[in-house]
Amino acid sequence: MKKGFLNKYVSWTAIAILLLSMLAGWKSSLLHETKVEAAARPILIEGPMPIEAENFAKKLEKVKVEKSGTFVFYKGKLDGYPVIVAKTGKGMENTAAVTALAIEKYKPIAIINQGTSGGHDPSLNVFDIVLGKRVTNIGSLKTETKNAGEGMDPSQWIPMDLMASEGSGADANADKVRYYEGDKDLLAAANAVKHLYTKGKVVEGTIGSADFWNNEVDRINWIHERYGTSVEEMEGAAAAQIADAYDVPFLGIRILSNNKTNGGAYNPNTAAANQEYVYDVVKQYISTIKK
Ligand code: SAH
Repeated sequence: MKKGFLNKYVSWTAIAILLLSMLAGWKSSLLHETKVEAAARPILIEGPMPIEAENFAKKLEKVKVEKSGTFVFYKGKLDGYPVIVAKTGKGMENTAAVTALAIEKYKPIAIINQGTSGGHDPSLNVFDIVLGKRVTNIGSLKTETKNAGEGMDPSQWIPMDLMASEGSGADANADKVRYYEGDKDLLAAANAVKHLYTKGKVVEGTIGSADFWNNEVDRINWIHERYGTSVEEMEGAAAAQIADAYDVPFLGIRILSNNKTNGGAYNPNTAAANQEYVYDVVKQYISTIKK
């Protein structure tokens, strides 16, 4: 009788100890996971068109697809590190929305906006790549004052900085170009692997963005002189502005798919080539943040 009671007592204690230690182990593994998550904030790679995002997404391991509105996020891993590819859609509005959404949802450690572009610099050829040392909005403009019948003259339009103040655009302080600087660590990673890219040259330059596609060479030259642009595209400055608002490191990386200034015809294969290069950049960047 006494022995039976003792046996029961011992086995209940054993079960209790087992349960408690399981609970403790579970709790510490949970804690460990949250720590790892906090340490490994993802890198966000943005691409506007399917040909500018899907190749990169296919290179990731363990991909899970998440959708929000018309935006698609491919969440995966590269060398065991979390990387999210966002297919943003074309243009400034889509890009700004995706960037804000992704920052709130995924807390990225860095953002790269990449894709194709049109050359403004005649020394750059289709397949050359521009690293955005600076990115700027080339579609934010204020016109001269002219009365009815006096016509319009785009060559006299004045760049307008919408972030100059919280006041009206009539404010003369807004009469300037705003540049967003590319993050120096992302730039360093991009420069460190440029020898791996063999289809053209990789240079630092200025990326200009707006919801337009310019085919008038005089207009391209006007933008090139005013803003110092190497290339134009439709997204980078929108992403840079939002990344800056949240203080997230940012870099634009754009391949020339066309160049009106030297007769470079549009080649859609450039989109895949850029993703291969950006993949190497991300790999390099991961190796530096893991240390
Ligand atoms: N040829 C395509 C172009 C799509 S719109 C079509 O007709 O469907 C342009 C997209 O490519 C944008 O995402 C933009 O970032 C990029 N782009 C490439 N070259 C450009 C250029 N010369 N001007 C503006 N955007 C350009």
